[in-house]
Amino acid sequence: VARNRGEAEFHQAVREVLESLDPVIAKHPHYAEDGLLERIVEPERQIMFRVPWVDDAGQVRVNRGFRIEFNSALGPYKGGLRFHPSVNAGIIKFLGFEQIFKNALTGQGIGGGKGGSDFDPHGKSDAEVMRFCQSFMTELSRHIGPDTDVPAGDIGVGGREIGYLFGQYKRLRNSYDAGVLTGKGLAWGGSLVRTEATGYGTVLFAQSMLATKGDSLEGKKVAVSGAGNVAIYAIEKAQQLGAKPITFSDSSGYVVDEAGVDLELLKQVKEVERGRVADYVSRRPGARLVTEGRPWDVPVNVALPCATQNELDADNAATLLRNGCAVVAEGANMPCTPEAIEAFQAAGILYAPGKASNAGGVATSALEMEQNAGRTRWDFATAEAKLTGIMADIHNSCVEAAETYGRPGDYVLGANAAGFTQVADVMIAHGIV
Ligand code: NDP
Repeated sequence: VARNRGEAEFHQAVREVLESLDPVIAKHPHYAEDGLLERIVEPERQIMFRVPWVDDAGQVRVNRGFRIEFNSALGPYKGGLRFHPSVNAGIIKFLGFEQIFKNALTGQGIGGGKGGSDFDPHGKSDAEVMRFCQSFMTELSRHIGPDTDVPAGDIGVGGREIGYLFGQYKRLRNSYDAGVLTGKGLAWGGSLVRTEATGYGTVLFAQSMLATKGDSLEGKKVAVSGAGNVAIYAIEKAQQLGAKPITFSDSSGYVVDEAGVDLELLKQVKEVERGRVADYVSRRPGARLVTEGRPWDVPVNVALPCATQNELDADNAATLLRNGCAVVAEGANMPCTPEAIEAFQAAGILYAPGKASNAGGVATSALEMEQNAGRTRWDFATAEAKLTGIMADIHNSCVEAAETYGRPGDYVLGANAAGFTQVADVMIAHGIV
């Protein structure tokens, strides 16, 4: 803690992983030897840089850029870029740390990294976003490459931003290294299903958890938070599997649509118009906007937090449990506070940590890298079948690891143990580096 002062989210993520590993270390004490735990919590490299750019009024703006290259035991650093005013070193570090174990769980040979900036794309013109991305990539390009470090999107970084970033990378390097970024457009090296992958994967994971109880998503009411990439495609897959998502949100409030979310309208508002959730309500009879509280106040069977970290606390957990919620699968990274997780586990409901349930996004990014390397392109069905198989494998790994270490049904232990042991074994094989 003293070494990483003020990095509250990083402390939270490290504590969550290390505390849950007690049964693993008890069974295999060598994992606590040779400074392995000390090394795994220390990023291999942290880059922080100035991002100057000029706004439409001719004013110079200065943001801060970050890239954390956390762990390359399993492959090139891999993880998204987040553009949000709340971004700081502690947030990027927590995300990078989580990414190590998530990427291990995918079985795809990718290390852990993360990056971003405190730049806020909201309210900026396309030209401003482009100038920012070009300045950001001018520095970042020195550090990344298809075999070194492969960024992708996250909050505030979607197809538009990846396009501007790739354009600048290509110009600086004079090289069409498509595999340097993932989440690209389909016409220039992107993969089908990458857009849908995180949301789809989260719902597939929830379905697998329910299957262990002989149940399914059919007919279940679902609360979703967020209205971005992850939330929209979680809603889509939940609907495909016969569930009824009735909420979504953004930072202005949450929407309750008891008739079931009109996905076409939501996509039009958020993806095409870049509007706010209120724009949905104004065009959808029966839907209402709630500006106080969170979607977790609405009675549902399943909760899918898909917005941001620490968006579901102990009070929210108590409300969900009181209302009979029996499944929580994290689409976002670390959306549930430690107290909320404790409440879910004490109540014995199905709870999936994001590093397992939202791993479909990065897994499909690795599939995008594979297609780029082979100069090939799979159709939607092929890519989706691979995603479905990977999510089933991740679920099985978690279940098996939880059983191995004596806590069947504990997906926190399962995910951390399965991810950690893979990374730790390779770090041991590579020696003290
Ligand atoms: P988007 O930028 O597409 O959407 C984020 C959504 O969450 C927006 O609706 C946004 O609302 C809302 N949100 C963000 N921050 C806050 C906040 N502080 N308070 C309230 N609402 C907020 O991001 P993604 O959908 O890509 O990412 C969502 C989560 O999923 C993040 O935790 C991300 O790390 C995680 N994730 C994403 C992956 C991906 O493939 N994209 C992969 C794995 C995890 P507003 O527009 O008002 O800010």
